[in-house]
Amino acid sequence: MTVSLDLDAGARALPDEPQGLIGLTRAKMVAQLTEDFGFDPKQARMRTSQIFRWLYNFGVTDFDSMTNVSKGLKASLAQRYGQLQEQARPEITERQVSSDGTRKYLLRFAPGVEAECVFIPDVGRSGALCVSSQVGCTLNCTFCHTGTQKLVRNLTPAEIVGQVMVVKDDLEEWPSTEHGRQLTNIVFMGMGEPLYNLDNVSEAIEIISDNEGLGISRRRITVSTSGIVPEVKRLGEETQAMLAISLHATNDALRDVLVPINRKYPLEELLEACRTYPGVSNARRITFEYVMLKGVNDSDAEAKKLVSLLKGIPTKINLIPFNPWPGAPYECSDWDRIEAFADIVNRAGYASPIRTPRGRDIAAACGQLKTESIKQRASERRKSAII
Ligand code: SAH
Ligand code: SF4
Repeated sequence: MTVSLDLDAGARALPDEPQGLIGLTRAKMVAQLTEDFGFDPKQARMRTSQIFRWLYNFGVTDFDSMTNVSKGLKASLAQRYGQLQEQARPEITERQVSSDGTRKYLLRFAPGVEAECVFIPDVGRSGALCVSSQVGCTLNCTFCHTGTQKLVRNLTPAEIVGQVMVVKDDLEEWPSTEHGRQLTNIVFMGMGEPLYNLDNVSEAIEIISDNEGLGISRRRITVSTSGIVPEVKRLGEETQAMLAISLHATNDALRDVLVPINRKYPLEELLEACRTYPGVSNARRITFEYVMLKGVNDSDAEAKKLVSLLKGIPTKINLIPFNPWPGAPYECSDWDRIEAFADIVNRAGYASPIRTPRGRDIAAACGQLKTESIKQRASERRKSAII
């Protein structure tokens, strides 16, 4: 059943900045439609369902394409919420495709607000999209390029969801429900610390995982954190997402240097939060990321310590070859060293732990994300300092 609206009676005055529909969770969209159009609860839920499917299952970019919505309502929606295209999709200011198929996008959300996201295809028809949760980061892990860029701001739920939408456009993956999609997983491993923007990350995950939304199950969504201990439990409870921890060191003295937030939330507290992470089990293991830094954290003794430290926690270990960036104070461990380290981890029962570097030729790998515009501004500043 479609309800057509009396335009004059139904439409309210346009706010200065039209409030978009993209990025509203189901509950928020129901509330918004109720407030704006005076729907009863049943109607509002039904409309939300329809709109969700058009936006996120089919990826439509205008209200006109919503064929099961009446003409009158379509016009009211357009009048109230503005143009869908602009709300849903950040502008792609740069797109690079690596020789290994990795795609890196520089996205512009607003003037001066730019972040990158990276699509990493896997063998067969699957692949992960690495999304950003903030522009810049307040933390300054010493091996991370993003850490050298100050926080510009948190990304909104719409801006996080928008990263998935533009990449789906580029991969021609609409409708979302179709089998054989390549974009099967989401990892929050781009710019920023997701647990410092948990409200927005949590709402974005709700939309991404909704069956009438983008339909990517919560088990295929991984949130990586440097270890903001007080937020870990809430992440599990609110999102049921998979957890990844940027560990990188097996003792507090070294972790204090590599991941300085460790001074506030030391290893013991972090590991306790992992042990009690909601839903953790052998089927839902926690990933521990460990970046391989030459002569810093890559000895056999540290490999053994790593294994003993994680005993009792359902764990996946991910050894990440360090991705160098200009001016980085570290080097990547030699390949022989990484293999020797991996052997020890392997013998303790963790399968193929080395993460192959992807997209290196386009600087798309982890920790290499720093927006071009910021690099350019820095280089202009350097030039003017020389002149
Ligand atoms: N802020 C979150 C998520 C973004 S960083 C976090 O720290 O977990 C995503 C992953 O990339 C983290 O594991 C981070 O430690 C890793 N990383 C950062 N810089 C890197 C680099 N130069 N080489 C390899 N991995 C890096
Ligand atoms: Fe921020 Fe993560 Fe980089 Fe640390 S590793 S500076 S938390 S983005």
